[in-house]
Formats: sequence, structure tokens, C-alpha cells
Amino acid sequence: MLALDFLRLNDYTREVASQPDVVYGVIVNPAGMAISSYVDDTDALIKQLFRPAESKDIPKVLKTLENRDEVIHLQFPITHNTETLGRFLVGISRQSLQSEFYRQLIVQLAVLAAIVLFLSVAIHFVFRHNVLFPIRKLISAADDVGHGQFTRVETKSQDELGFLARAFNTMIEAIQRERAALHRQANFDALTSLPNRMMALDRIKLEISRAKRSSQRFAVFFIDLDNFKTVNDSLGHAVGDELLVAIGNRVQTVIRESDIVARLGGDEFVVLAPDIGNEIKAEELAERLIKAVSTPQELAGRKVVASGSVGIALYPDNGETVEDLMANADNAMYQAKSTRDGSAIFFTAEMNVRLRERMQMEQDLNLAAGLGQLTINFQPLFDTAGGRHHGAEVLLRWNHPEKGSISPATFIPLAEATGQIVAIGDWVLEQACRSWSAWHNAGIDPGFLAINVSRVQFRKRLSARIAELMSNYRIPSQALELEITESVLLDDHSQVAEELGSLRAAGLILSLDDFGTGYSSLSYLKRFRFDVLKIDRSFVNGLPDDRDDVLLVKAILAMAKGFDLKVVAEGVENQQQLSFLENQGCDRAQGFLLAKPMSEASYTDFLEERQIALIPPRLSAPLVQRTSSGSFT
Ligand code: C2E
Ligand code: MG
Ligand code: MG
Repeated sequence: MLALDFLRLNDYTREVASQPDVVYGVIVNPAGMAISSYVDDTDALIKQLFRPAESKDIPKVLKTLENRDEVIHLQFPITHNTETLGRFLVGISRQSLQSEFYRQLIVQLAVLAAIVLFLSVAIHFVFRHNVLFPIRKLISAADDVGHGQFTRVETKSQDELGFLARAFNTMIEAIQRERAALHRQANFDALTSLPNRMMALDRIKLEISRAKRSSQRFAVFFIDLDNFKTVNDSLGHAVGDELLVAIGNRVQTVIRESDIVARLGGDEFVVLAPDIGNEIKAEELAERLIKAVSTPQELAGRKVVASGSVGIALYPDNGETVEDLMANADNAMYQAKSTRDGSAIFFTAEMNVRLRERMQMEQDLNLAAGLGQLTINFQPLFDTAGGRHHGAEVLLRWNHPEKGSISPATFIPLAEATGQIVAIGDWVLEQACRSWSAWHNAGIDPGFLAINVSRVQFRKRLSARIAELMSNYRIPSQALELEITESVLLDDHSQVAEELGSLRAAGLILSLDDFGTGYSSLSYLKRFRFDVLKIDRSFVNGLPDDRDDVLLVKAILAMAKGFDLKVVAEGVENQQQLSFLENQGCDRAQGFLLAKPMSEASYTDFLEERQIALIPPRLSAPLVQRTSSGSFT
């Protein structure tokens, strides 16, 4: 081996031995003699086993370390062309190697942890962006739906979340549509598309809070069409509906943009005018409203002219709550209607008094029958020629403990409006039957009893109840006459016709009361069969001097003859009237001239005096001759 090689070996040995874990590095020749060596005398084991000088003794060092576990001994043969030149012996410190191994492990674990952390953070960000944010958006949009707001969730992603978001958007669109439809249904009138009662009340409530803050006044107009029922009945419901729509549209053209017109139902409308603060302006608008309502309309090829009555209530003068304002405007409308169709009236405190009186009367009336305050009177009916008496009209009386005798003309309309008439009318029917039966049992012929029945009673299957009473009191059918006003005929034709048919089949006499005062239509006479027609006393009043009354009564009589109807003239108060009626061929008369309504006891006396023979009382009963003095026997 050359010296140069020897030096290289030394370098090599030093380089290997200077590695941190190497304890020694020795190159030995084939004979085992160390050629080049290096021992790390800084190593803890070398320090522990050898004194500083001893570590240079390579054979000793190798020998001593040979069996030590702390050192791992490695041998590398050194060959050249298959010839062994020697061996390279390396001792590595086991502890140092282990430390290195742990150090490496820790480093690798740290690197791995760092990678995992990085990946987690990255995944977290991606997850947040792609999943969490869209889900949060969905949750908050769903929350908004709960609060009545509809926020669309914008997304372009094509994954499940994207589908979910799109499904959500479709759902809120459907909800919005549904809500809009419900809102329309709840707040708008289906026929006219105008705001309905609910919305009108809401708007008035809002207006009250606004006006309260700004100390302003505003006006509420209550409009009710006059005789709308007649339009429906004569022209049909479709035309009636068209008229309501046309009127709603017309009213809209005469109000301001800030005003609203609502349909409350039926033929009732309300106008809220927030900018109207004084009576003059309110009056002007009321006039415009009346004009709008009464403008002729071309409907179903016919010209239809409606009219409407208007009641006006001002805030805060006529009410500080929605309920008061509406009730008072309604009340004023009611007054307008009873004054003159097609007029407008402001609410007044007086009306309130009247309203309270009406409410008090309603309460009193509820108790009246139970307290024995109701009685019935009897007003006899006579032939005009001869003056024979055949029966009496039964007239209800209310003896109020404080107000005295109250006319049925006052309380019957109220009882009809409240429905109390059903019980009261039934009471009248039963009283009349009871009286008739008592007279009959006492051997007195009471003739027939004509009983007034209201339109409201008529709707409640009256015929069955009358049949029951007739059977209970054993009353022959021809002893009962029912007086029906024309208003009954305005109701559902088929039901009225059916009910009239049942009554007629039971043998009752049917009489059309107050003829000429209602919404007379001659077609009713053709459609519904009556036996008797009663001319209202307002036409009899002017006889025989008033030309119009004369003409009307003559016409009614001629027409009645044509329809084969008996005619009774009501309210005959003087001899001239009676003579005229007799000459014109009117069959019967009723009035103060002949007899006033009387109590049951008085009528009993009257009947006994007359000594009416016990023959079936019919309109066709033989007439008694009139005396020459013109009085009746
Ligand atoms: P009505 O059926 O037309 O009855 C005739 C009315 O004229 C009665 O008024 C009667 O007292 C009155 N009268 C009769 N002769 C004369 C007269 O010569 N001059 C004047 N000025 N009046 C006369 P009353 O009793 O006040 O009844 C008013 C209305 O109340 C009745 O009119 C009828 O429509 C209704 N009514 C009365 N009783 C009942 C009832 O039991 N049920 C129903 N539903 N209505 C009734
Ligand atoms: Mg009557
Ligand atoms: Mg009458």
C-alpha cells in the first residue's frame, strides 16, 4: 500500500469516525493489524472505559469493546480484484443511534403533524366555503321565512347543496305565491277586487293612529245601494253582480288616490278619505259618490240606474275607534235611507241616542212576551156593500211599562232585523189560534182571523208550524188567513213559491198586504197565487178627491178582478171613502170608520152582539144588505 493510499485511508477513516454516532473506525490489514484508525475519545463510553492515553491503543480498544452491548460492531471487507486487502471496522454507539432514531422519529412525526394540520386547515377552509357558508345561508334564509321575509339563496354549485338551495328557492317562490293568494283572499273582495271589510277596518285603524299623532280629522263614508234586491230579482244575480262591479269602478274614479273604497259585502261599500277634514269637503265627496252610484249603466243590454244612500262619520268627532266610526257611519246611512233614497247624511249625536234607544228596545222586546207585555188586538173586516163582518185582522200590541203602548210599525222592523220576530210571530200565531178555539168552544163564531206574517218568519218553514197549530187547536183551514207583504216575495223565489204552495194546499187564505207600497211588480201576482189583495191605506187616504189615488185604486181593482182576487181596502176612515170603494166594486173594507182594533174581550163582546151564525167563514159568504142610512147591520 502506498503512502498516498495510506493517507487517503486515514482521511476516510476520520471522515467515517467523525459521524456523530461512530465510536471508532479502524482499517485493518488481512492479518488484523490496524492500518488506520480513529477513536472518538469524546464518546461517553470511551471516556468511561479508557483513560485518555489508553484510547490510542487500538487493539485494546477493539478488544475491550468487542463484547460491549452499547456498541454495534460493523465490518466491511476491503477488496481489490477479488483480493482481500483488509477490513474496515466501525463501532457505532447504540445509545447514540437510538437517540438519533428517536430524534428522526420526532422530526418525522412533527413533519407529519404539520402536514396533517395543514391539510385539516385547508379542508376546513374548503368545507367552510363550499358547505358551511351555503348551509348557513340556507339556515338564515329559512329563519327569514319564519319572520315573513323571503330571501333567495344564490348558488351556482351543481352538488347536492346546490340542488337543496334551488329547491329552497322554488319552495319560497311557491310560498310567496300562496301568501299573495291568501292575502288577496283575506283582504280583497272576490267579485269586485276591491279591498274587503277586513282590509277596510285595518286601513281605518291605521288612519286613526296617524290622525291621532297629527291631530287631524278624516271621513268615513258608508254607502248602501237602495233596492238592490229588486235589481237582483228582476234582472238576475249575474246582472246584480255586474252592477256591483261597475259601481265599485265608478266610485274609484271619483275618489282620490289616497282614498280607498272597499266592499263590505252585499250591496255595502265604505270609502275612507284620509284627506277630508271638514264637513264641506265631506259633503262634496258624498255628492260625487251618490252621482257615481246613480250613473246609468249599460248591463246585459239594458240601462240600469241604481241609487245609493250615504252615511258620513268624521274622526274624531263621530267616533275614536274603528267600531264606533263604522257603526255611526252605518247609522247615518240608515237615517239617510229612511229619509230619502239616494241621499247622504252626517252622523249626529241624536242618531246615537236613537241607536241606543233601538238597542234598549231590542233588550226590552226580548223580555216582553215573558212579562206578559205583548197582547193581540182584533180589527174586524167588513163587506163594503152591506157591511157584513166576516172576520178580523190580528194586530200585535206591546204595552211597555214605561213607554206605554208601542206601535208594531215601530218594533216589528226592529224585531225583523234582530230575528226576534220568529219567536214573537210564533207567539202571535199561537195566541190567535188559542183565541179562535176559545170562542169556537164557547159557541161563538169568530169568523176568520187574518194574521200578519213577516218575511223572516216565512223563511223558517212556516207551513209546518201552522199545520201543527191548526191540528192542536182544531181550527179549520179556512178560518185562517195569512197576510204577507210584498217584501216576502223578494226572497228566493223557488222557496217562497214552495212555501206558499204548502200553505195553499193546507187550505189557508193568502192575502197580499199593503199592496202598492213595496217593490211591487205585477209579475209577482202572476207568479204567486193569492186570494186577497189589500190596498194600502195611503191610497185610500185621498179618496175620493185625490185624482191619483182614484186612478190607482180603480186600476188596482180592475187588475184584481182580472186575477180573480178579492180586494180589501185598508184604513177606511170616512163614509165618502167607503161609498167610493163600494161603487168601484171593492169587496171589503177595514178602518176606523167601521171598527178600531180592539182587545180580545172587546172583540168577544163585538162578536156576541153580531151573533154571527155558525157557518164556515169564507170570503164567498153571502153579503148582508146595507141599510138606507149607509150604516152597517
Ligand atoms: P197592517 O197589516 O197594514 O195593519 C193595518 C194597520 O192599519 C194597523 O196598524 C191598524 O191599526 C191600522 N189601521 C186600521 N184602520 C185604520 C184607519 O182607519 N186609520 C189608520 N190611520 N190606521 C188604521 P198597526 O196595528 O199599528 O200595525 C201596523 C203594522 O204592523 C201592520 O200593518 C202590520 O204590517 C204590522 N203588524 C201588526 N201586527 C203584526 C204581527 O203580529 N206580525 C207582523 N209580522 N206584523 C204585524
Ligand atoms: Mg196586515
Ligand atoms: Mg196593511
